[in-house]
Amino acid sequence: MNDILPGDVEVWQHVESTARDVFGRFGYAEVRTPTVEDTGLFVRSVGETTDIVGKEMYTFEDKGGRSLSLRPEGTAPAARAYIEHSISNQEPLTRWFYMGPMFRYERMKTGRYRQFHQIGAEGYGSKEPAQDVEMMDMVVQLLQKLGLTDVSLNINSLGDDACRPAYQERLVEHLRGHASELCADCQVRLVKNPLRVLDCKVERCQQIASAAPNILESLCEPCRAHFGEVQRKLDALGIKYVVNPRIMRGLDYYTRTTFEFIAAHPALGTASTVGGGGRYDKLVKSLGGPDVPAVGFGLGLDRLCLLLKESGQKYGQPADLFIAVADEGSADVAFTLASRLRREGLRVEFDTRGGSLKSQMKRADKVGATFALVLGEAERQSGQAQLKRMAGGEPLSVQLENLAQTVREALAKPAAAS
Ligand code: ATP
Ligand code: MG
Repeated sequence: MNDILPGDVEVWQHVESTARDVFGRFGYAEVRTPTVEDTGLFVRSVGETTDIVGKEMYTFEDKGGRSLSLRPEGTAPAARAYIEHSISNQEPLTRWFYMGPMFRYERMKTGRYRQFHQIGAEGYGSKEPAQDVEMMDMVVQLLQKLGLTDVSLNINSLGDDACRPAYQERLVEHLRGHASELCADCQVRLVKNPLRVLDCKVERCQQIASAAPNILESLCEPCRAHFGEVQRKLDALGIKYVVNPRIMRGLDYYTRTTFEFIAAHPALGTASTVGGGGRYDKLVKSLGGPDVPAVGFGLGLDRLCLLLKESGQKYGQPADLFIAVADEGSADVAFTLASRLRREGLRVEFDTRGGSLKSQMKRADKVGATFALVLGEAERQSGQAQLKRMAGGEPLSVQLENLAQTVREALAKPAAAS
């Protein structure tokens, strides 16, 4: 679990605010659910035989003897809230997004942590391919806006209750032929959850999986048509994608469309999937809600921020103005001036420790203030001061009275012009 310190947090804020902006354009509203839920919610939705529920959940008993878990993902809590508040009666087509910490007891490495953060969205009420593609379009637009262009969209269909059982049988037949070569986890998966073998990360399992029957060849007609329409609509939007029959996703609730966004950047190592999602038409009903189809995705915020930090761009806003004090007698006036300018909307830094003018200017430099102004006896008397651009250039004579206005105008001008 990581601390996210100032310096890094600006990158996080940039990703979060960009997501809010993009998701807002698509009509998605934010939902905030608790960090802990009843353990049963995840057992019933994510699935008992998945790694998440089987090995990775932070589960504990509260003082009332209830089994609770720190949420390992966001879809089940959102669905619980959707059901609990009877949202489908109020809003037959519902678009929600969320952001927040998720918890999984995983083996840690780059891009893989025990508290990590997801940005996700859910669309309830539409079974149409347009809804699937809207979701993918939203992620594509977010990644573009963040300048993350080296990410590829992989899509697949897992079929539904009509066609998946027959596929699963063919798959098990293939896997049984290699049972002794599978990793220990996959030996168990073969019996309990054979589809999961297809996204095992162990190399030998991957080899065996790559020779397995292709799920797309087993789709029933309605699933085939749905998946075809998803591709047509992606094409119509000019969104590039790869059809990848191995995209299974590590949770039990998916039906039909699944997708993953995979980054090529070496900074992520083996944690190259920045996000994924899919359709889960049966989940809301299986949790005791109405029979409402849904589709959603989750993006790994930690991984997006790792990629963005690689780009070396600086985020965050420095102080507009540093006010330095030339003599003891001016300290109160300067302190009051700083407060007034902040009320007038400027970002103002003031060294509350006092100290020499030299040490104050050193700090002005360190905090990256755009302008500095020295206040002493002469400035107090005349009501005039010199506004100095820290990057250099001729100082500007300013009236203290309308300083906020002058600084705002100077900020709007490029450095060389002042
Ligand atoms: P992976 O295959 O990398 O284990 P996953 O399939 O378990 O991912 P999801 O449950 O689909 O992941 O979660 C969506 C996204 O959340 C992932 O694509 C990833 O970016 C991020 N994510 C998942 N687990 C972690 C983690 N332990 N640390 C950091 N990010 C994570
Ligand atoms: Mg995982």
